[in-house]
Order: sequence, then C-alpha cells, then structure tokens
Amino acid sequence: IIYDGDDAFISNCIESACLSHKAIAWSRTDSDAPLYIEKIEKKEKGTVILCTLLGLTQKYVIPFTDDASIENVIHCLAVMLYLKPTSVNDANKFARLEPVAMRLDVKQGINNCMLINDTYNSDINSLDIALDFQQSRHVDKNLKCTLILSDILQSGTLPKSLYKKVADLVRRKNIDRIIGIGRDLKEYGSAFDIEKEFYLSTDEFLKSPTFKKFKDELILIKGSRHFHFERISELLEKKVHETILEVNLDAVVHNFNYYRSKLKPETKMVCMVKAFGYGAGSYELAKTLQEHRCDYLAVAVADEGAELRKEGISIPIIVMNPEFSSFNVLFENNLEPEIYSFRLLDAMIKETERRGITSYPIHIKIDTGMHRLGFQPDDVPAICERLKEQSGVTARSVFSHLVGSDSSIFDDFTKKQLDTFTQAAAELENGLEYKVIKHILNSAGIERFTDYQMDMVRLGIGLYGVSASGIKGLRNVSTLRTTILQIQHVPAGDSIGYSRRTYVDRDSRIAIIPIGYADGLDRHFSNRGGEVSISGKRCPIVGNICMDACMIDVTDTDAQEGDPVIVFGEELPVNELSDKLKTIPYEILTSVSPRVKRVYYRE
Ligand SMILES: *Cc1c(COP(=O)(O)O)cnc(C)c1O
Repeated sequence: IIYDGDDAFISNCIESACLSHKAIAWSRTDSDAPLYIEKIEKKEKGTVILCTLLGLTQKYVIPFTDDASIENVIHCLAVMLYLKPTSVNDANKFARLEPVAMRLDVKQGINNCMLINDTYNSDINSLDIALDFQQSRHVDKNLKCTLILSDILQSGTLPKSLYKKVADLVRRKNIDRIIGIGRDLKEYGSAFDIEKEFYLSTDEFLKSPTFKKFKDELILIKGSRHFHFERISELLEKKVHETILEVNLDAVVHNFNYYRSKLKPETKMVCMVKAFGYGAGSYELAKTLQEHRCDYLAVAVADEGAELRKEGISIPIIVMNPEFSSFNVLFENNLEPEIYSFRLLDAMIKETERRGITSYPIHIKIDTGMHRLGFQPDDVPAICERLKEQSGVTARSVFSHLVGSDSSIFDDFTKKQLDTFTQAAAELENGLEYKVIKHILNSAGIERFTDYQMDMVRLGIGLYGVSASGIKGLRNVSTLRTTILQIQHVPAGDSIGYSRRTYVDRDSRIAIIPIGYADGLDRHFSNRGGEVSISGKRCPIVGNICMDACMIDVTDTDAQEGDPVIVFGEELPVNELSDKLKTIPYEILTSVSPRVKRVYYRE
C-alpha cells in the first residue's frame, strides 16, 4: 500500500489494521520516510518538487501547479521507487507529462462572464481542487470571483461544522461572493463572511433577479448532480447559434408511471417510440423505458428497431409497418412484425421455413373500423387455419386500433370497435387453442376506456406529456428552445422580413432568433400567427418566417441579446401551437427537424 503518510486518518487505519502488506508512506515532514518530500515550490507554469529517495536528493519539475496533480505525481514517484528504482532517474520525463483532460472546462459566459463547470458532484475535496482551478484561471483581475455551490450531500459530517469548513476554504481561496443553493446552505449560511445569497432550490435561483444580473465575473458552478446545475450553466453560457430540443427523461418516467398507476398490475405496456420517439429521440427514451420495465417497444419500420438493437435495447420490439424487403433486418435483430394481411402472413411463414425458424412471434392486426392496415374480423377463421398448418410463426398478440378514443362524440363508435375486437380476439384465441395477448387501447383509450385494458395497452402521445383527452397530471417532456441573436430597433412604419408582410405601427424592438421553417417551425406562424415565450412573456412572431430564422416583437419586454426563448414547452404547451395550426400535437412534436440537437436531462 502506497499512501500519504502525513494523512493521519489513512496512517491510523493502516497501522491499526496490522496489514500484512508492504506499506510505503511518503511524507513531507518525516525525513526518515522512504520518500521524503523536502520542498514543493509552485512557479508560474509548473512546480518544482525536491525529494529524497533511497537516500538521494532529486529534483522533479512538473508542468502542473494544482494540489491534486502534485499529489498524484508524488504517488507516482513512490510507485516507481517500489517497482523500478532505476527509473526514478528519468526525472526529465516528468516535465513532459500532459494534463489529464479536466472535468472542469472553462466556457465563455454571457455579459463578459467566464464559467467553470462542475455540475456533477460536490464534496469538500473536489471543491478545494475546483477553487484552486478557479484561482489559476483568475487572470483578468477585473473579474469578480463567484462561487455557485449546492448543498454537499452525504459528507458524513454534521452540516454545521461542514459549512464552517467550507466557509474557511472559500475565504482562503479569495472568493468574493457565494451563492448557495439547498436547505443546508440556507440554514448555515451565516458561516460565510463574504457577499452571499442563498436559495432553497435551483428553480428558485433561476427565477431570482440575481440570476439575470451576472456581469464581469469568473463563476465556478459546483453542485451535486441532484441539483441540476447544468440548467444554470446552460443558461449562463454564451450561446452560439443554437436551437435545441430539451427532453426531460424524468418526465417521461413520470408519465409512464402515471399511466401504469391507472392499470391493473398485470397489464402489460407497449411504449410507442415510432417516428424517432414522437420527435424526442427513440434511443434515449427506449433506454429509459427499458430500465423502468416497460414490456414492449413499438417502432414504425424495421430499420428503427435495428437502430435500437444496435444501441443495446434488448426488450421485445414490435414493428408496425414491416416491409417485405426488410425480413432480413427483422430476423437479424429479433424484431416482431405486425401482420395485417394474408400476403404478408404467407411471405413471413415462407421466410421462417426457408430459414428453419420455428415459433417466430408475430402480432395480428384486426381492422375494426379504422380502415388502415389490418385483417377484417371475418378473416379470423382463415387466419387460424393458416397458422395451425405451419410452425414457423406464433401469434404472440392480437390487436386493433381505435379511431376516436379521445373524444366523446365518437363513444358509440368506439364501443362498437371494442365489441368487434373483443369478439374477434376471443375467436382467434379459441381457434388457435393457445393464449394470445390482446390489446386495443392507445393513450386516450387508457384515459377513457380503462375497463378495456385487456392484457396490454399501447402508450404513445401520453408518454410525451400530451393528453389527448385533456387529463391533468402529466408532465411536459420536450422543450424547444433557442436564443436571441440580435435585437434591432425598428422605427414605426417599417416592414419586417421577406415580402414586407408585417409593418410595425410603433417604434419597436425586434429580436432575431435562429429557428426557421427548416427547423420545423411552421411557416403559418408568420405575421403574428404564432408566439414564443421569453421569461414567461409571450412575444408575437413578426414578418414571414425564414428558412433558418425568424423575427419576434420584444418591444413590451426587457429581453436582451443572448436571452433564452421558448418555442414550446411547459410555459407554451404544444397543444396551443397545434390548435393555432388546426392540427394535432403529434404533428408539432414530430416536425422538429433532425438538425435540431436533442439534449436529454434527468432531474
Ligand atoms: C401510434 C399508435 C399508438 C399510440 O397512439 P397514441 O394516441 O399516441 O397513444 C397506438 N397504437 C397504434 C397501432 C399506433 O400506431
């Protein structure tokens, strides 16, 4: 065991454990230690370490100045001393060491701020290192040093003494201001004797006036994962032309569990991740759903399923529109096809026989009124007959799809569909003489016809936070956000954009945002047809929407260049957009162009 002999805790442990291992303690104080560190001298670009090993005094120059790197190098010296004493002479190699990629990157922030990000963990040791790093970056002395810190979780120390230590540390490292987030910091904030502010939650802080006022600061953002400080850093980062679709995976899980809570425990769930997960991105969602024990996934075409397999998704996957040309992809990736016609059924059986496969799972689709793909209910006897004379495929499930489960005006028709299906499914099961999973409900169906959950349900839009029947309790999943690139002052009477379709009738502040119809922002929102939200305030879209940008009227707000803009999300629901366009939320969600980067987060 090679260890820091000056660390009382480690030394005590090793001594009291009476280890049979060989122990090498290096030390900065004990000149009898096998590796004695005589002197550590930090220079501008490196550190000189003077030490005695094997009785010889040696000098090492390393290209780092932070305490953690210095300690790492000393450990390396001790290891070399033990393994290969001759190589200890290669002192010059140390000067050529390269820094390990730092988890703390420095980014340009808004209003001449610099940001140092560590939004993943927080403990007092890593805080020490991060503060050192911050000091080493404090080149422009006009910048104020600010620390945004979350509660330190699971420290094993009582909060009172913990935050006293933190306060000492922060004072020693010349921090000018602390912003503390969390219950403990708020309670023990009096320990700090510098400029300070405290908030209970990240949300509270994001809504505070302070958050809008960062200027000329070197900001270290350091918090436990749980506090989601990436939301802070994202908003403070200087945005380069970027429009993103932010996807809250915890909201997906919430919605999934919300529907599950409405069902009997034994009812299975298929999650529909077709069309790139309704635009939100199928892989991240599939992975999350797999972790939460969803029974099945469903995609539209075989290639979508193959992609999921490639990413390590192992739960069963149904392919809703299998192409005749894609059998190879199906079998190679263990994807289960929906079978909707005798032509497809025969081709599938032939293919399994050719490959020598038996009992390959298929899903029989019955058309009960949609008149899209599907067998007719009176095809059931013939289906049974065809299935019984072969062994290549097995009907794993039988299902149908409702045409108007979201609306009470179709309830009579829905009842008819439910009855027709119940009958056809029973007939199929009787004819086959084995159990087949029966399912018909989509999201709105689960909300409104829970009694017909049968063996399984198919959850689609509800998973993505949109209730077709208007129930409360779902959480918003996707937020389409962008940022203000420029603000122009346009005098009254001037026109905005192509073809002069909007004139302003007062002196106006017009903001330009980098999202256009090529990103999926429907051009019908042009000329005050649609709105975006800036800090909770609605701003109309003015002028014709361009391919990659559009203009919005921010005259009635104090919006600034660089401010975030929400196109849809919690404060501007997708439903509202689809209503304006006389379409459905599905189309808005799936229209967000693939060039818009998807960013996933958990809370
Ligand atoms: C898309 C789809 C669903 C999910 O519908 P939602 O209205 O989004 O819940 C269910 N079943 C089938 C066959 C589908 O194609």
